[in-house]
Amino acid sequence: MNMNDLIIKKRDGGVLTEEEIRYFVAGYTQGNIPDYQMSAMLMAIYFKGMNKAETCSLTVAMRDSGDIADLSSIKGVKVDKHSTGGVGDKMTLIAGPIAAACGVPVAKMSGRGLGFTGGTVDKLESVPGFQTTIPEERFVELVNKHGIAVIGQTGEIAPADKKIYALRDVTGTVENISLITSSIMSKKLASGSDGIVLDVKFGDGAFMQTQEEAEELGNLMIEIGNAAGKKTVGLISSMNQPLGRAVGNSMEVIEAIDTLKGKGQGEKDLIDLGLNLAGLMLYAGDRASSLREGFDMAAEALQNGSALEKMRQLIEGQGGDPRVIEDRSLFPRPACKMEVRAPRTGVVTKLRAKTVGIASQHAGAGRMTKEESIDPTAGIYLVCKENCPVARGDVLAEVHGKDEAKVQAAAKILETAYEIGEQGGPEEPVVKTLIGV
Ligand code: URA
Repeated sequence: MNMNDLIIKKRDGGVLTEEEIRYFVAGYTQGNIPDYQMSAMLMAIYFKGMNKAETCSLTVAMRDSGDIADLSSIKGVKVDKHSTGGVGDKMTLIAGPIAAACGVPVAKMSGRGLGFTGGTVDKLESVPGFQTTIPEERFVELVNKHGIAVIGQTGEIAPADKKIYALRDVTGTVENISLITSSIMSKKLASGSDGIVLDVKFGDGAFMQTQEEAEELGNLMIEIGNAAGKKTVGLISSMNQPLGRAVGNSMEVIEAIDTLKGKGQGEKDLIDLGLNLAGLMLYAGDRASSLREGFDMAAEALQNGSALEKMRQLIEGQGGDPRVIEDRSLFPRPACKMEVRAPRTGVVTKLRAKTVGIASQHAGAGRMTKEESIDPTAGIYLVCKENCPVARGDVLAEVHGKDEAKVQAAAKILETAYEIGEQGGPEEPVVKTLIGV
């Protein structure tokens, strides 16, 4: 087989066979195919597309490029939840404990922040003492004991994706649904779970700009997940404005804890999305025989305190200080706080999620380079979200962090996230539709 022939075949609109796809994925991962040929192949795929069979072959070839986690010593039907990435997305810390409280084992391998979107591992590390790197035997032991543990990725999961994603990032080939699907699903299929719940986002702070695009991506991912033997379901959610009010690591953990305290304390969007995702996890994990039953069980776990108790066990089990549940002053404190104020009287008509994410990254909550460490205290608290009436000079948001210059720079960016007009619009529900059910 010859890479040049395969590039020409795809360039001319041909359909690649499973063997051909395996050949170039393995060849590129092992360093036998150079970047320039793989770039040409990616661009040919970008323009000519791949059919479902090709996308499935690409996903499986990428899955098989590295380790496949073995979670068979964890009892029960394990369900993984994946979000396509957003701003203020602390759903693993809300839906995870709810699902665990209802008996679904949550053995989660999470990532760090990427660009302006946050990562669960960075968030959890803001809890004093919390360890995200623990031996695999301990991880299994914790899930069997408490029903939940969250660690950083271990071993070499889908190394082909790591290499191909880095190349896509610099060759203008990220935004293609077959390439996105194979990238996400290869990692999910290698993560050792029995079921997968997908939160596919669209809007200002997401990869997909429209609901239709998100549905196309979500349905393809679900087909590939099911074809590969995992029960896969999901939902489409809006990422036009950030989720909840906190964006940044310790601030998001605090907001997740507040939401789990139930009794009407949490933000509506966090509760809606959290209950829907947890309900889907119960359904995918065979704990609920219908979605309705899954949602009802999730709502009960939020109300009766059992989900909060799972959060406490998660924190304590991984070396964190469980007293943070009652006492937020135990989190590291920001040295600097700055307010962003309304330049005029009116109503917040837009709050751009992506701009808020970029501002929070500049405050120190995200990395500008791979090597940079993050500031756990940095972040943004959104006092006003869309449809909030404001008078000139009212506080719209607070920026926190340890570095005054960074906080100042973030506040300047954050000013541009807000649009203030005369009249608000209809309330936008965060969950748009369920998919694959
Ligand atoms: N997230 C991924 O892991 N891969 C993509 O291609 C896009 C989002």
